[in-house]
Amino acid sequence: MASITLQDVRKTYPNGQEAVKGISLDIADGEFVVLVGPSGCGKSTLLRMVAGLETITGGEVRIGDRWVNDLEPADRDIAMVFQNYALYPHMSVRQNLAYGLKNRKMPASEIERRISEAARALEIETYLDRKPGQLSGGQRQRVAMGRAIVREPAAFLFDEPLSNLDAKLRVSMRAEIRRLQKRLKTTSLYVTHDQLEAMTLADRLVVLNGGQVEQVGTPIEVYERP
Ligand code: ADP
Ligand code: ADP
Repeated sequence: MASITLQDVRKTYPNGQEAVKGISLDIADGEFVVLVGPSGCGKSTLLRMVAGLETITGGEVRIGDRWVNDLEPADRDIAMVFQNYALYPHMSVRQNLAYGLKNRKMPASEIERRISEAARALEIETYLDRKPGQLSGGQRQRVAMGRAIVREPAAFLFDEPLSNLDAKLRVSMRAEIRRLQKRLKTTSLYVTHDQLEAMTLADRLVVLNGGQVEQVGTPIEVYERP
């Protein structure tokens, strides 16, 4: 686990668009922080800078005790969960979960331990040998989360992971993510434009507007304050 610190983080795209205009934020060890705000407010840009998928044009990002501005995504000890599941269609669920770990030359026994634990946590044990095409949308989304969990990262970064699911599934996956958070207590930064999703999941909400922080607080402080 690790804390995440943003110090006056900025992003100006090559076309001159100022997407993020100086954001400072401390995310504690084990805390679940949701970035929420209207389309175009800079959520995704900010998350992608923490992930290393977008260059940082100002300020600093720290994950745990490392300043990561110059580190590749793979060296940042984070795992991302996206809305498109990005599973390999020709591989079984088990192979999908094992793939990234095999690339890191991890011993087979350790890979097996991690897959068993993730499968138990996500209740996907019964379909480890199926291919993604044989799974429902919700099951595929669980496997996508499984791929993040088996990495045992210092932090999870979620980029609107539920936005492709139908309303009913979204509600049940929300509950699933909350349950996982209680169990794993991994530091998480979660992006959504859905206020209900934000309220249900967040320990703390960060409301962005126009590339800046508009409000920070618990869901009750942000949404229920008179
Ligand atoms: P959100 O995730 O909140 O919808 P984004 O971070 O995607 O917002 O975008 C923030 C702003 O930056 C928007 O005005 C968007 O149009 C702009 N933007 C996003 N990506 C690029 C890019 N590659 N080049 C130029 N502008 C971009
Ligand atoms: P691939 O990304 O090709 O499916 P890997 O899991 O080996 O297969 O990932 C390639 C690179 O991307 C590795 O450096 C790995 O650390 C990184 N990576 C893989 N999955 C994630 C993830 N969920 N979040 C962040 N980085 C990831």
